[in-house]
Amino acid sequence: MLRREKDDNRRVLLKISGEALQERDNSSIIDADFATGLAAEIKEAVARGVQVAIVVGGGNIFRGTIAQALGMDRVKGDYMGMMATVINALAMESAFEMVGQEAIVQSAVATSHVVGRLSQPKADIALNKGKVVIFAGGTGNPYFTTDTAAALRAVELRCDALIKATKVNGIYAEDPVKNPQAERLESLSFQEVLEKNLRVMDQTAFSLCKENGCPIVVFDLYTKGNILKALAGEKVGSIVQ
Ligand code: UDP
Repeated sequence: MLRREKDDNRRVLLKISGEALQERDNSSIIDADFATGLAAEIKEAVARGVQVAIVVGGGNIFRGTIAQALGMDRVKGDYMGMMATVINALAMESAFEMVGQEAIVQSAVATSHVVGRLSQPKADIALNKGKVVIFAGGTGNPYFTTDTAAALRAVELRCDALIKATKVNGIYAEDPVKNPQAERLESLSFQEVLEKNLRVMDQTAFSLCKENGCPIVVFDLYTKGNILKALAGEKVGSIVQ
């Protein structure tokens, strides 16, 4: 059984959606400059002693619900979505190579000739050695999301926080796109999120974090320097704890 001592280095799980990796004008499914910039900021956090695990989404390439809308089989579509996360994980691995940060990829779906298989003990060892661990393939099961995969990996690796990179700088009382005056809530309890019916993550992901006491940080990915702050535990965005 994996054990982490209280005085161990900070360990975080960063969830990056597929859409975050996409070119802003949709001209390419991967924005290589953005991915390299992201890798460079994560490298700096690792140099400061933070252990970083990443779960990447696949929504820039495919989602099971797209298959459904096309009249295709939903389960096959979900596997296509999971394979899409492998493509994004390889793009991030390549970005880490470019900035000189050691990184490994583990996948929950079998693609063993391309990336490693999911292994919690191996991930733990790699993180302790200062390598970034990129998790692909979501949970490995259809009907789930990469948010749930992020919550699972955060809990099983005893991470100090699940850090969700989004387009908005935190959790709002209402949708800030619909109401620009909506109040930003900086610190909330899990109970408050449920009472106020706020959508922080999908319900399975949220419940996993709530039941296992894993704080969730929601922050804006596109403000330079934010990732480093969020990874290092500095105040940024909103926190549920
Ligand atoms: N997916 C799945 N099981 C998982 C994770 C993902 O079936 O455990 C599929 C699902 O079809 C999903 C797609 O992969 O829509 C891409 O994942 P997600 O939508 O979470 O990516 P993101 O929105 O973070 O880019």
